[in-house]
Amino acid sequence: MSASQSSDDLTLLVKIFGKDRPGITAGLFDTLAAYSVDVVDIEQVVTRGRMVLCALVTQPPAGLEGDLRATVHSWAESMKMQAEIISGRGDNRPRGLGRSLVTVLGHPLTAEATAQIAARITKTGGNIDRIFRLAKYPVTAVEFAVSGVETEPLRTALVTDAAALGVDVAVVSAGLHRRAQRLVVMDVDSTLIQDEVIELFAAHAGCEDKVAEVTAAAMRGELDFEQSLHARVALLAGLDASVVDKVRSEVRLTPGARTLIRTLKRLGYQVGVVSGGFTQVTDDLKDRLGLDFAQANTLEIVDGKLTGRVTGEIVDRAGKARLLRRFAAEAGVPLSQTVAIGDGANDLDMLNAAGLGVAFNAKPVVREAAHTAVNVPFLDTVLYLLGVTREEVEAADAHEEG
Ligand SMILES: [Mg+2]
Repeated sequence: MSASQSSDDLTLLVKIFGKDRPGITAGLFDTLAAYSVDVVDIEQVVTRGRMVLCALVTQPPAGLEGDLRATVHSWAESMKMQAEIISGRGDNRPRGLGRSLVTVLGHPLTAEATAQIAARITKTGGNIDRIFRLAKYPVTAVEFAVSGVETEPLRTALVTDAAALGVDVAVVSAGLHRRAQRLVVMDVDSTLIQDEVIELFAAHAGCEDKVAEVTAAAMRGELDFEQSLHARVALLAGLDASVVDKVRSEVRLTPGARTLIRTLKRLGYQVGVVSGGFTQVTDDLKDRLGLDFAQANTLEIVDGKLTGRVTGEIVDRAGKARLLRRFAAEAGVPLSQTVAIGDGANDLDMLNAAGLGVAFNAKPVVREAAHTAVNVPFLDTVLYLLGVTREEVEAADAHEEG
């Protein structure tokens, strides 16, 4: 923009539409250059090979506008493109205060859900400034840049709709902090991995049914987490310590787990896990996946046998939130720039303490209390909530392999 450009100077909006081919952008500006106009704004979008190029430029010198219009139209015709030139004043309307990014994940993303989300944004007083596809695989992920409404009320309005529409919606405040270095802390059982580790141990001890009974009692509220942990671990007493290696090899990572962690590490994030399960498994995951932090309960082993007791600090619902704070302090990341991911009720304190709490294929009680939910079974979709595109993930993978 030229220094003399002011908010009500005359401007021309030049819009070019048609089949994308090399040289369109250069050709348009080459044509405009003959009229000594300055660029105020440019936007270009290509969808399935069709291009829309919008250039907002300053008014040409007196008497040349008609000539400019005719030249642009004839150039566009020669390129088999359509052109529209609209006179007006000034720049784009300034964006309203309160800027948020709304990420919508659909599997599939229906037109109906998109209509409802867009209508709800409008109803809250928000304006959609920009829409951008983040990914088409393994889900369709679209990001809306919204202004004119505060993040919290927008989140409340949209997250309520999301479950009914069969899509996942995350609303975060836009701004530089989104790009600041952050920390991601994950639950392990049924989040990072598909299994519940205590059940894998129980299978080797032949006490799956008894462990399941205790789990059910805890879910009915008859036992708190710590009581149920002690009761279940007690059932493992006498189990040979060699079972630890077997359980480690049986653990199945959640689809997308490796992609998520690899990409986060490349982006400079620190990544940790907290688990109501056992360090015998989480320490191994930490080594294998290159995690920065891992904390869990520790099974006591004496003379090569599990004693049926745990040692050390108990990691329960409150413990998980405490560890998130501790990891954040160690990583030098403010809590507002942390992301927590979990599926269970014992993750809720951690999800609420984090800057962004993501309920991952969680039970309704957890889903409703979290900032956002992911209800597709791919852990890497969390990247889209952070604004990372599939293309960026794949480009980084190709670069590393090449
Ligand atoms: Mg879990």
